[in-house]
Amino acid sequence: MITEVFAVNQLKKEAPVFGQLSFDDHEQVVFCQDKDTGLKAIIGVHNTILGPALGGTRMYDYATEWDALNDVLRLSRGMTYKAAITGLNLGGGKAVIIGDPKKIKTPELMRRFGKFVHTLGGKYYTAEDVGMETSDMDTVREVTPYVTGISEAKGGAGNPSPVTAYGVFMGMKAATKFAYGNDSLDGKRILVQGIGHVGEELVRLTSEEGAKVVISDINEERLAAVSAKYGVKVYRGDDLYAEPADIYAPCALGATINDDTINKLKVKVIAGAANNQLANENIHGELLQKKEIVYAPDFLINAGGIINVFAEIEGYGRDQIVAKTENIYDTTLDILNKAKATSMTTNASAISIAEDRIAARKKEK
Ligand code: NAD
Repeated sequence: MITEVFAVNQLKKEAPVFGQLSFDDHEQVVFCQDKDTGLKAIIGVHNTILGPALGGTRMYDYATEWDALNDVLRLSRGMTYKAAITGLNLGGGKAVIIGDPKKIKTPELMRRFGKFVHTLGGKYYTAEDVGMETSDMDTVREVTPYVTGISEAKGGAGNPSPVTAYGVFMGMKAATKFAYGNDSLDGKRILVQGIGHVGEELVRLTSEEGAKVVISDINEERLAAVSAKYGVKVYRGDDLYAEPADIYAPCALGATINDDTINKLKVKVIAGAANNQLANENIHGELLQKKEIVYAPDFLINAGGIINVFAEIEGYGRDQIVAKTENIYDTTLDILNKAKATSMTTNASAISIAEDRIAARKKEK
């Protein structure tokens, strides 16, 4: 399943690295190794024009080092656009540590990683991602200030997932307004795929508004718990993508909108939290446009998490976090309208707005 994720904008070994879509003008890529702790990490700094590159560290047992490189490059590129479109003065970066967190993660390894982050002198700020816990960020904080997502007890902003879910909810309502003429989710049938940290909170928000929520997950225990807690239905068919509904909310994996699924989808709106939902952002963006499915760009509507960690750097309070997250509604509507007016895909439209903001700042410098 996870290999699908790496198929997004896949870096090709045989071709030159510079100029490929995933590499896409990265400013700096740092390979970090420490034999004593077993650390092998790659830090991708994609763009720092708007501010320091910020993006989480993912620890994963990649099948090959190429997969790890590909993952960090495409994720750091996505962070640049996410920060730019959200109006944050941050650049895009990301880090990966190669290995199974259950087997190799130790405080020594995390501190060694933190020291590598420190050598970048604040050009890159790290945070939590897959395979990481808030406590790991606290360990990194022991050796560098260039880390966010530390525990509230240590002065951090805490768990970003509820804020991410709230931003997805805002983006979903805006896309619903665009598709149906009003933004009410009351009575809308919503397929939520993945009911983890973000998905569960999205289930709460949408079901409280009267949506008919159907949940799907590979974790049976979570399905039973979330279904009982919110009174929502569990999907029991064998092809979620073919299920008639109003809205599909991918909140588990990337690349679920691909050659196979796109022909089956019967929804009018796609709005979810997963990163890199389009297996190929150009091809699948255009196919969705042809099918007249309204796609709320993932990097725009899942930006609540980065707003939350940005707040940690800027010392924002809860009110400012909520206001910036609610702004996702207006930005989403603007982008959907602009895409319609220019016949661009919604994804391309969002990227072009993000790129314009970066270009304008570059001119000022
Ligand atoms: P999570 O790990 O808490 O939850 C993911 C859920 O998806 C789990 O319940 C898992 O069992 C389920 N899942 C895995 N494979 C599945 C499949 N094939 N079908 C159905 N369910 C499946 O992750 P999360 O923090 O809730 O994040 C969800 C998505 O949103 C991820 O793609 C993440 O990168 C993205 N995202 C999260 C945040 C955040 O603040 N947590 C911010 C931005 C983007």
